[in-house]
Formats: sequence, C-alpha cells, structure tokens
Amino acid sequence: MSEDKPHQNLAIIGHVDHGKSTLVGRLLYETGSVPEHVIEQHKEEAEEKGKGGFEFAYVMDNLAEERERGVTIDIAHQEFDTDEYYFTIVDCPGHRDFVKNMITGASQADNAVLVVAADDGVAPQTQEHVFLARTLGINELIVGVNKMDIVDYKESTYKEVVSEVKDLLKQVQFNTDDAEFIPISAFEGDNIAERSDNTDWYDGEILLEALNNLEAPEPPTDADLRLPIQDVYTISGIGTVPVGRVETGLLNTGDNVSFQPSDVGGEVKTIEMHHEEVPQAEPGDNVGFNVRGIGKDDIRRGDVCGPADDPPSVAETFTAQIVVMQHPSVITDGYTPVFHAHTAQVACTIESIDAKIDPSSGEVAEENPDFIQSGDAAKVTVRPQKPLSIEPASEIPELGSFAIRDMGQTIAAGQVLSVNEP
Ligand code: GDP
Repeated sequence: MSEDKPHQNLAIIGHVDHGKSTLVGRLLYETGSVPEHVIEQHKEEAEEKGKGGFEFAYVMDNLAEERERGVTIDIAHQEFDTDEYYFTIVDCPGHRDFVKNMITGASQADNAVLVVAADDGVAPQTQEHVFLARTLGINELIVGVNKMDIVDYKESTYKEVVSEVKDLLKQVQFNTDDAEFIPISAFEGDNIAERSDNTDWYDGEILLEALNNLEAPEPPTDADLRLPIQDVYTISGIGTVPVGRVETGLLNTGDNVSFQPSDVGGEVKTIEMHHEEVPQAEPGDNVGFNVRGIGKDDIRRGDVCGPADDPPSVAETFTAQIVVMQHPSVITDGYTPVFHAHTAQVACTIESIDAKIDPSSGEVAEENPDFIQSGDAAKVTVRPQKPLSIEPASEIPELGSFAIRDMGQTIAAGQVLSVNEP
C-alpha cells in the first residue's frame, strides 16, 4: 500500500443491516487489500470443504468472526487504496464513541459513503447519520443504493430510493450536487470495481471510480494556527512538553504562541515529531513541543495553542446550532450537560433555546420554544461553566464543532455560530 498517495479518512454510514460491513469487505477484497496469505489460507480451507466463490465469502466471515468475538474495530480502521488515494475507514456511527471521535478529530472523516438498501429505502439511522455527516462537515457524499440484486436490479426502485435520499439531503441542507448516487450490490459485486451488466440503464461512475474522483481535502495551512492540547508532559533535559495535533495553520520554531484559556504564552523552542526534531509542523501532524517559560501547571488538556497576535477565542457565551439525536425526555433552558469540543470537556449550560429550526427549510419554526427533543434542530445560547476555547465554525470549522454528552451517551451534536468573549 502506497503511503505516498494523498490520504483520506472515509466514513461508511447508513442504517443497520443495509450492508456497510459487506461493502467494506467488498472494497478490501476488490482493491487487493486483504493480505495474499490470508486469502491463500482461506482458499485451501474452502477447497477442503468444497465451497466455490470463496475468497470474498472469507473476507466476510473474518469480519463476522471479529464481530462475534466482540471486537469493536471490525470495519473501522481498515485501509485500501485506489489509483489516486490511500483511504482509511474511520469509525462508523453506531460505534460507541463515533461522534466524540469525529469531533475531537480522532476520526474526522473527509468524505462518506452512505449505504441505503434498495429494498428498505431511507430508515431512521439513515436520517440520523446524514444529519451527523452534515453537522460534522463531511464534504462529499457517495450514496450506494445497495442490495440491487434483491430488487432484481430494477431502475424504478433505484429511482425511488434516490428521490427519497435527495429529499433527506435537502432537509439537512446538504447540496445534492455534492452527492453522487450509484446502484450497487456489495454482496454480488455489482458496480463496485467493475461495471455491472445487470444495470445497463445506469451509465454513471461505479463506486471505485467515484472514490478515486473525490476531491482531495485541502490541508488548512493558510489559516491561523490552532493546536488543541491533548496532554502535557515533563521530559527531563527538555522541560514542559505539550502534545497535540495541529488542526489548522503552521507551527514554527521561533513563533510566539499563546495558550487559551490558560492565557499564557512564549516562544516555541523546539518541535518534535516521531522522535525527531523538526522546524515546522502542519495540519494533521501530531507533535510535542517546548515553549520558553511555560511550566507543567501553566497549561492543560483542552487548551488551544495559537499565534500570540491572534490568540484562540475564549467564550464567555456562544451561540450554536444543534441537532438533538437522542434524549430520553426533553431539553429545556438551564440544562447543563458536558460539551466535548476538540480536546476539551467542559460542563456548559444551555442558557436559552432561542429558536427551533425547521430542518426542511432551515428557517425558524418557533421562537423561544419551551423545550426541544430528539430529532429537533435548534439555535441555542450556551454558557460554559469553566473557560472554554472554541471558534465559530464559519471561521475555523476544525474548532467549531462539539458533541453534547450526558448519561454516557451523545445527546446532540452542534456547530458554533458566534463566540462572545469576556
Ligand atoms: P451493516 O449492519 O450495515 O454492516 O450490514 P451488513 O453488511 O452486516 O449486512 C447485513 C445483511 O445484508 C447481511 O446478511 C448481508 O449478507 C446482507 N447484504 C449486504 N449487502 C447485500 C447485497 O448487496 N445484497 C444482498 N442480497 N444482501 C446483502
């Protein structure tokens, strides 16, 4: 697998049983990403048992086996490549920490494949995942209308599902021009790596072509530096070493930086990446660095490092648009769950629910509603109970999303509209 190709994180989303794992298995198989020795071993086993068409079946068995053993990774973190890109499959929604991981950047997906079974159409999790993909800033969506074999490859069924999904995308204001629809069978392999004779009415791209033609994510190097701190270490001979991933901009030795909300700063002395000193770090780089005059207790996880002359914003309050995914009852003014934004976890009070938003038009459906519940979208004003560095999503999208967690669950996801600094 070539690591020289540009890398993309790909999310595979969709309702349970619509075929996400099968599709991942198919992609790994068709791109030759299953190690030869694994296939060989299975070939022998299959021949002994007298089974045909075995290789793909065995990829699937392996995934299924992992699942039975309760291994949570199953389809996440699998890798494959096309001519243009090297893809990593990130956690799927449904995995326990998916939303949190997306937001904290651990598994921020660039693009997504939405799997919709042709015999079922848009289902509850299809809606939820599309909401999330939109809220969390997925650029392009490839929609695989799957299980076409079950509906006899009928064009009319395909068209019905496409129109249902288009309605859903419009509801969440996802530009349908940024979505591409493909009739597939993950199980039979139609329109995945090769054009299928079963869908001669379809002349668009097949799945691997569409993946290959996705736009390369532009690393946000031109933006101001934002580097959320994950941990702070003391290393003998060097001193205090904050570590984290550069989200936007560049970190250079000699830069004057500021940590917010701790409100301390200094000059960057050294930057280390993969145990080597480097003069500069760019978006996506995980680094440890050392700043003149900063002690271990001066900064902490959840701080954001940025340029001293344009420090990260600190919110006294902020406004946000949120989507309530699952809440056992209703959310009212005064609700104080934990907000997860980049590496920070801070209790925040929803001070006021300013408007309920109609998802189909994006317009205000009700001013100052008494409550909101699962499925609702709303504009809210939020007051962090401790200082929190966060940015408007329109200015720095990487630092403008958050998840709201309570009772061990992700209750809602949102994007920051504006930040009111003290
Ligand atoms: P997931 O829950 O979305 O990951 O769905 P799975 O990949 O586990 O698939 C659920 C079921 O649908 C399994 O029994 C698969 O064999 C079956 N399946 C998946 N894709 C196809 C397909 O293209 N055609 C048919 N006939 N069955 C499929």
